[in-house]
Amino acid sequence: MSKKGDGTLAWLRDRNRQRVVGVLRERGRLSQAEIARVTGLSRTTVHSLVAELKGWAMVQEVDAVQPDARGGRPAIQLVLRDASQAVLGIDFGHSHVQVAIADMARNVRAERRCDLDVNHHAIEALDTSARLAAETLAESGFERSSLVGAGIGVPGPVDREHGTAGSATILPGWVGLRIASEMQRRLGIPVEIENDANLGALAELTWGAGRDCSNFAYVKAATGIGAGLVIDGRLLRGASGTAGEIGHTTLDEEGALCYCGNRGCLETVASGPSIIRLVANGSDGADGSALTLEHVIELVVDGDVRARRAVSDAGREIGVAVAGLCNLINPERVIVGGMLSRAGEVLLQPLRESLRRHAVQAAAEKVEVVQAVFVERAELLGSLALALRGARAQQMMRQPM
Ligand SMILES: [Zn+2]
Repeated sequence: MSKKGDGTLAWLRDRNRQRVVGVLRERGRLSQAEIARVTGLSRTTVHSLVAELKGWAMVQEVDAVQPDARGGRPAIQLVLRDASQAVLGIDFGHSHVQVAIADMARNVRAERRCDLDVNHHAIEALDTSARLAAETLAESGFERSSLVGAGIGVPGPVDREHGTAGSATILPGWVGLRIASEMQRRLGIPVEIENDANLGALAELTWGAGRDCSNFAYVKAATGIGAGLVIDGRLLRGASGTAGEIGHTTLDEEGALCYCGNRGCLETVASGPSIIRLVANGSDGADGSALTLEHVIELVVDGDVRARRAVSDAGREIGVAVAGLCNLINPERVIVGGMLSRAGEVLLQPLRESLRRHAVQAAAEKVEVVQAVFVERAELLGSLALALRGARAQQMMRQPM
């Protein structure tokens, strides 16, 4: 196609139409106003392109999920009609595998979960995930040929270039394993891998608390503490995939030794295990080894003063590290997820206060700190969002320029 003279307008229109289809594929359902905001196209242009796509039966209108924030009439939303395609999401936790199939309009059609020791039995975990994928696919009603890609979540730093897990201390059984190519061989479809905090950020960006936001930090506070950073609507990964590792921010050079080899990291005072240790010590005959982070959160909800104090102190420490992050990237929002976020304001209020005290005033005034929408399924939904993004990128590459 010519890019000059009269051809330029048609070419531009093609490109703009691809962008509209691309964001619908990635985000599932959007109103015309949201499409305009995400693509940067004018509302008039979006209106005209959507009319064209409707004429070709490529998009359809659906009921809005929620009324708008001002309580007005919900805007009509649009979804793609390419109902024959689907993506696969696989989330490896430290002790479980979750698998889901979603259609291109982001509806989860089937999902499975299995508990196993992922950290130490990598090959078994990969085989199990492939078996679960086949079962989930059968349940979803899609054919194998419908799958256009898979997103895979790994609970540790990821080397995307080589498709490997990047840390021997976090995933001991996975060292040297080429996760992406191993899974591609088992599944027979293109595969992308990503770490858990980045997947949480993608889930919130696509469907959750970051949906209307282009610059935010997603903080996953659970067994470990990590962040996924979204800058101008894209994940910031850094040179070797470790951007956002705030769990190893030094808070006290003389502090306790961390498993990473440094002293006084945030994780030594605010991670799940350190909170559990605090709460278990001195409880009436409680056996610390049996206490889990879920139990601690239940205690917080029940008003246990020691559990509340341990979690709010953790919030204050996380706030110090997040203040540094805000000074660097100046986000509009900090979205706090992970199991610890179930403590709600007991965690968030001290985190906010600490953030205000330690960040530069301009950054601290701008940022709002909110609870994530997703907790247990954040990484699974994020792996689906990753697969949808991958499918979009492939489609863009196939389009004639
Ligand atoms: Zn550390």
